[in-house]
Amino acid sequence: MRTLDDIDTIGVVGAGTMGSGIAQVAAANGFDVVMRDIERSFVENGFDAIESSLDRFVAKEELSEDEAEAVVSRIAGTTNLADLADCDLVVEAAVEDMAIKQDIFADLDDVLPEDVVLATNTSTLSITTIASATDREELVVGLHFMNPVPVMKGVELVVGEKTDSDVVDLAHDLAEELGKETWESDDKPGFVTNRILMPWINEGIRAYDEGVADKEDIDKGMTLGTNVPMGPLTLADHIGLDICLDASETLFEELGDRYKPAYLLKRKVDAGDLGKKTGKGFYEY
Ligand code: NAD
Repeated sequence: MRTLDDIDTIGVVGAGTMGSGIAQVAAANGFDVVMRDIERSFVENGFDAIESSLDRFVAKEELSEDEAEAVVSRIAGTTNLADLADCDLVVEAAVEDMAIKQDIFADLDDVLPEDVVLATNTSTLSITTIASATDREELVVGLHFMNPVPVMKGVELVVGEKTDSDVVDLAHDLAEELGKETWESDDKPGFVTNRILMPWINEGIRAYDEGVADKEDIDKGMTLGTNVPMGPLTLADHIGLDICLDASETLFEELGDRYKPAYLLKRKVDAGDLGKKTGKGFYEY
């Protein structure tokens, strides 16, 4: 297995909200990155997101323009999975769908040398089930970054049934190298964070749908009342309502009624109002 010293190039699968953030943070910390999505336009959207995030760091004088340019120059975009063949570690951040993740992991298993660790950024899906699509189950680990990746300090390490303890150590060392702090979770639905967060978000949506208060007051009540930076409806918009629904459905399937996704969450996703990324969710952006 490769150690942190062996890792020069990191592959990122998915160039959406999380994949672009992970690519940015890896490149900002000196790694070369290959970022893959299924269509050229999605790869370009990923670069746009990275550039606007870097612009905000430049505006706050936390980064010079030259440094921001150097970050972008370390990232190569592609639609071809085979371009990840020379990566020393891969982080998958594609959509939250078990069949798609298993297909990606089976393909990565074919393309990458057998000592390369494959990590997934899944919010709720089983690491063990994803790993079972490969012949390297002991080298598969959950590396669950928080959104927005360049800002949030935490990374949840998820240990699958067969994950080797050296792989967990490597995931921890890599997260620290990226300026993050970690905690470990067993491979149980939703891990620590989403198991607790998703019911909170769904209850906020139900409170709104059932007329307890208007959306602004629900968010204000929770931010001022419990000292969190965002209320449940604003946070849901930032996460993406489709991601919240997928995560809630996994929790509901595995853990039962208390995790049933809110009706309005499903209706918004059906209407294509996915939150910040589509310009409209509970709020307009
Ligand atoms: P997103 O919808 O913003 O991006 C997903 C990207 O994956 C899209 O660009 C899509 O085209 C791409 N994709 C789909 N199939 C692919 C494939 N076969 N190969 C490569 N790319 C493919 O979603 P996101 O919010 O970035 O979430 C990505 C993952 O991270 C999910 O598993 C999600 O649960 C998890 N996650 C999300 C958040 C969050 O707040 N949004 C936080 C932590 C973890």
